[in-house]
Amino acid sequence: MIAAAPNELPTPYLRIGSERLYTASGGTFRHASPYDSTLQTDVPMAGPAEIQAAVAAAAGAADDWRFWRPEARRAALHRLASLIREHREEFGRLSAIDNGMPLAMGLGGVDLTAEWHDYYAGWCDKIDGQMLSSFGTRGSFSYTSPEPYAVVGVILTWNGPLVSLGMSVAAPLAAGCTVVVKPSEMTPHSARLYGELASQAGIPDGVLNIVSGGPDAGDALVRHPLVEKISFVGGPTTAQKILVACAERFKPSLMELGGKSACLVFPDADDIDSIAQRAAFAAFGKMSGQACAIPTRLVVHEDLHDDVVKRVCEIAAGYTLGDPLDPATRMGPVIHAGAQQRILESVDRAVQDGAGRVVLGGTNPGGDLADKPFVRPTVLVDVDPQHDIAQTEVFGPVLLVFRFREEDEAIALANGTDYGLAAYIESRDVDRVHRVAERLKAGGVYVNGATTIVPHTPYGGLGISGFGKQGARTGLDEFLRYKTVSIL
Ligand code: NAD
Repeated sequence: MIAAAPNELPTPYLRIGSERLYTASGGTFRHASPYDSTLQTDVPMAGPAEIQAAVAAAAGAADDWRFWRPEARRAALHRLASLIREHREEFGRLSAIDNGMPLAMGLGGVDLTAEWHDYYAGWCDKIDGQMLSSFGTRGSFSYTSPEPYAVVGVILTWNGPLVSLGMSVAAPLAAGCTVVVKPSEMTPHSARLYGELASQAGIPDGVLNIVSGGPDAGDALVRHPLVEKISFVGGPTTAQKILVACAERFKPSLMELGGKSACLVFPDADDIDSIAQRAAFAAFGKMSGQACAIPTRLVVHEDLHDDVVKRVCEIAAGYTLGDPLDPATRMGPVIHAGAQQRILESVDRAVQDGAGRVVLGGTNPGGDLADKPFVRPTVLVDVDPQHDIAQTEVFGPVLLVFRFREEDEAIALANGTDYGLAAYIESRDVDRVHRVAERLKAGGVYVNGATTIVPHTPYGGLGISGFGKQGARTGLDEFLRYKTVSIL
């Protein structure tokens, strides 16, 4: 069923303490669904004044929230998880309207986000320190006391309207931090509903503040002296600016940045159809290639190369492109016309430079979609690994295929960029899997399957893909400082 008209959508607002602001000093962003530009909402944009107010609200709520009984905090996060599940359909629809993500993808994201909250709810009453008694004096010992950062500033990009928000907020809330989130102005609807559900779940005003805004608002949040830690999801160039601003106050940060992940396909891999299905879904079906950890480089043994390429192209050519709200759609638009142009230009440039050959796509699909920001699933072969298209994240439905003969060559190709978010191995040879996994430069290695972002495993990159982890106990510790108390 195609969803109700977006003009029935509630208007987004800034959530600051108990205030709900429909206008703000940073002006207004006219939000249009990437699929249908007539669907518009006015998003109030925070300026420095609203950031100041949001941080003050978070700082004011910090002491109370930190000392909530752990079982009460746990119950509130479980309630939020349940409410997210209860609003599954609505969140799926809002994600599609926010950024053009196909309904099925959005619904999957809702389930993951709910799981993430249940998982971190479980940590609320298990936050512990250590007792260390290795001193030479009788009665001397030390203990470590975990203390939450008072105010955490969360800055998000647009590609996971609900998932990125939930993944970035659940752990600091469980740790006892208060939070100011600056989501992207391009995803206002999911953020509004999430904030409302947090209130319904009993999370007090001031503990979670949500303020849309642009780079200036983000910068004001990073530089605010009461914001003690930054958690950022976005691109490496923005991350560098944030890191410079953080340096002014020695502010720690968690950086979840871009990727250029490779999938190595060895001759002892699964059948070609399974590999090709996974590769096509990751590169095209998952958010039109606008996802951080997907394998965008396929590194295939020469014995399988041609068959894999042929099958990936057949599968991708069969994808239904269209309205993200239509359940039959396998691939939606890219975020906006500017992104479409950037993606198509990067493909054209590679071809003109003789750095790759297009065997599928490379154009707008035309027809009914000609005036919309779509890019056909695009596959390039014979790619020059040093060319910009092979070195920089395209963030669109573009899959690059490389050929190798020896294992060392495959590893060198996989490790041959500055990124290090994820890597994939397709092989049923257990010795090879462990040997290659150990040598891959990536925060996560996924074997014979797609990216598995689940709350009980750590997720995060290295190199220009960032540092720090979301997920697992590690993801909780990101928001705790351990004080050592020594009795001498
Ligand atoms: P971006 O870096 O341009 O913007 C992200 C956010 O930063 C926005 O909210 C923006 O307003 C804010 N911002 C911009 N300038 C700022 C400044 N100077 N100070 C503070 N905040 C500022 O986002 P993008 O490049 O469009 O995002 C896409 C990137 O995000 C891709 O590289 C993608 O791979 C990455 N990503 C990573 C993950 C992950 O978990 N590793 C998840 C999703 C997306």
